[in-house]
Amino acid sequence: MLLPRARQAIVATCQELSRAGLVVGTAGNVSVREGDLVAVTPSGVRYAELTPELVGVHRLDGTELDGTELDGTAVEAPLAPTSELPLHLAIYRARPEAGAIVHTHSPAATALSTLVDEVPALHYYVAMFGGPVPVAPYATYGTRELARNVVHALHDRTACLMGNHGAVAIGPDLATAHDKSVYLEWLCDVYLRAASAGTPRLLPLAEITAVAGKLTGYGQQPPAP
Ligand code: 13P
Ligand code: ZN
Repeated sequence: MLLPRARQAIVATCQELSRAGLVVGTAGNVSVREGDLVAVTPSGVRYAELTPELVGVHRLDGTELDGTELDGTAVEAPLAPTSELPLHLAIYRARPEAGAIVHTHSPAATALSTLVDEVPALHYYVAMFGGPVPVAPYATYGTRELARNVVHALHDRTACLMGNHGAVAIGPDLATAHDKSVYLEWLCDVYLRAASAGTPRLLPLAEITAVAGKLTGYGQQPPAP
């Protein structure tokens, strides 16, 4: 089996997203890129029934956002890939530093995506996404138009909301992309709570830039036992 560790990690991540309520039913999709190969969830499979073998492997090569080959050639995939494969492939082509993508329909992010054009700097956590988090304009799920809108919105950010749909987070690895999805959901939830009680006070962008620098040194690994 190709990319066994990535496929296993995708299954574990999907089940964690499901447990945490960041996806309902078969919503959302997850992928990992290794070189020219992309491991990605199949379309419409219940996460409780997902196995590493059912996570497909597709080729990133030869896919073009404006060409005819965005569907990604299947290398080892027993089921049809996520309907959002064009979105995953388009992000990997636009953002070579991305090693993983997590797309959720988490409730606060989805609710907020119907109300605003960006998640503003109401908390210093926006720094972990590169600044205020944009909302990509709505387009039908699974379309190249949606893929284009999301690539454009992501620009120099590591996450965006998808208007009237959900959220996308990217990272150098799956653990980071997953963590960003969780932090983004928290941020959107805080915004909704604050905005329902008044007008949130925002932080200056200079402060967000300063925090972004400080966060690069944040976090520790416990010593090996
Ligand atoms: P898939 O089951 O095809 O991945 O679709 C879920 C989804 O979230 C579409 O945007
Ligand atoms: Zn979706």
